[in-house]
Amino acid sequence: MSSLYRKFRPTSFESVIGQEHVTKTLVNQIETGRIGHAYLFTGSRGVGKTTCARIFARAINCLHPVDGSPCGECEVCKALSSPNMDILEIDAASNNGVDDAREIREKVNYPPVNGKYKIYIIDEVHMLTGSAFNALLKTLEEPPSHAVFILATTEAHKLPATILSRCMRFDFRLVSVEEIAALISKIYDAEGKKYDLDAVRYIASAAEGSVRDALSIADTCLSFSQGKLTYDEALNALGGVDRGKIRKLFLCIAASDAGGCFNAIDELATSGKSMGLIAKELAYYARDLMLLRSAPKLLVETEEHLALMKQDLGVVSDDFLTTVITLFSSLDSELRYSISPRIVLETACIRACKLAVTDISALEERIARLERGFVPAKSQGESKEPVAPPPAVDLKMSAPMAWGKVISYMRMNESLRLQTLVGNHTDFEIKNGEFIVWCGDDYMDFCSESTIDAINRAFTTYNIGYKLRIDKRTAVDKDKELERLKAMVGKDVPVNIVK
Ligand SMILES: [Zn+2]
Repeated sequence: MSSLYRKFRPTSFESVIGQEHVTKTLVNQIETGRIGHAYLFTGSRGVGKTTCARIFARAINCLHPVDGSPCGECEVCKALSSPNMDILEIDAASNNGVDDAREIREKVNYPPVNGKYKIYIIDEVHMLTGSAFNALLKTLEEPPSHAVFILATTEAHKLPATILSRCMRFDFRLVSVEEIAALISKIYDAEGKKYDLDAVRYIASAAEGSVRDALSIADTCLSFSQGKLTYDEALNALGGVDRGKIRKLFLCIAASDAGGCFNAIDELATSGKSMGLIAKELAYYARDLMLLRSAPKLLVETEEHLALMKQDLGVVSDDFLTTVITLFSSLDSELRYSISPRIVLETACIRACKLAVTDISALEERIARLERGFVPAKSQGESKEPVAPPPAVDLKMSAPMAWGKVISYMRMNESLRLQTLVGNHTDFEIKNGEFIVWCGDDYMDFCSESTIDAINRAFTTYNIGYKLRIDKRTAVDKDKELERLKAMVGKDVPVNIVK
């Protein structure tokens, strides 16, 4: 646990952030003296469940509570501020058996030593076994008048209904970026640490609503930076991805620039970022743009970032944003189990590029760009070569990069049918100097002479130095298949079929 977290752990309800709906009711109960016997505190990790449980446990024993919080001065408060027999914290993750629950049942009958109440705080209560729950239930059904149980859990849905019905339930919410940022600023001020507001906001948003995580990150940044904590230092300390680079990749997708995507991914990979992190950040960027359009108040950003985001929002539609969010946020498991996560991410980008094109508003934007002066190769007439000279690329480019080039070529020069066919296809590899397009149901489409010619033209245009081979992943009968192809195309087709 971070030292900042320990040092600045709230000791009064007033200093608990983001849970006013909970603390207000608890304070009310203390002031009116209507204390229940069983409470359930549920919510994500690090949002203040145990902290509130501890404050509540002390407050109900305090002789002179101040605004519903323990005074910290009276004899009971003093006695309860160090380890004592009246406030017992049990971690159900490691004490989850029926014997542990029975022990609670026996000991709860002994009256408190210092104050009025004896409090059991049971953390991670959902980890109790079935029989332990039954034993606990017996206690909850007939508790001694001095006993108070506070059950804390991140997963309330795992508790039996019989337990739930006995408890007063409090749902803790995730803490907003603004509230966390304000807390970190306050703590850094108290510690005499200088910081950029940007850096603090970045830490707050990285914590995803957990105060504990936020303070642990703030602690790391404290030891990471010597002088004033900058945005870049916070980014480095967290191993985060540079926003500018993610934005670049996003814009390449929006412009359906496959080549640009490969370069942007390469740049990110070179700086040591995992593909999973890149995918996540992409989804988050699209989500932030969506927020900017529909609920800007929820967005905590600097003016500088906002200006750039507004600019980006101008070239994408809601449909496109939804697609990017769905595509990249669901990529996680695929990336985790893939032997080459980079290809998974690259192909996802290509897929998104394709969607950017079918997206009407993006299409309009592309048309507008074409009208502004970009003339595609074919309309030049005299020359068969594209006007823009093919970029000087290494003959031995990676398979995804080569395929990206083929896709761009189809977009500029070929029919919609070929654009879709090639844009949808993700199964390919390079082996022994051959570029192999592996096919399934789309095999026949790829084997047509016009398709093979078109791909070969793309290979020539972009100096892709591999021999094209189109293969079926599993073929029924090689000879039969070749005969069928020959009948269809009218001549021998340069195709290898593997069994
Ligand atoms: Zn007190």
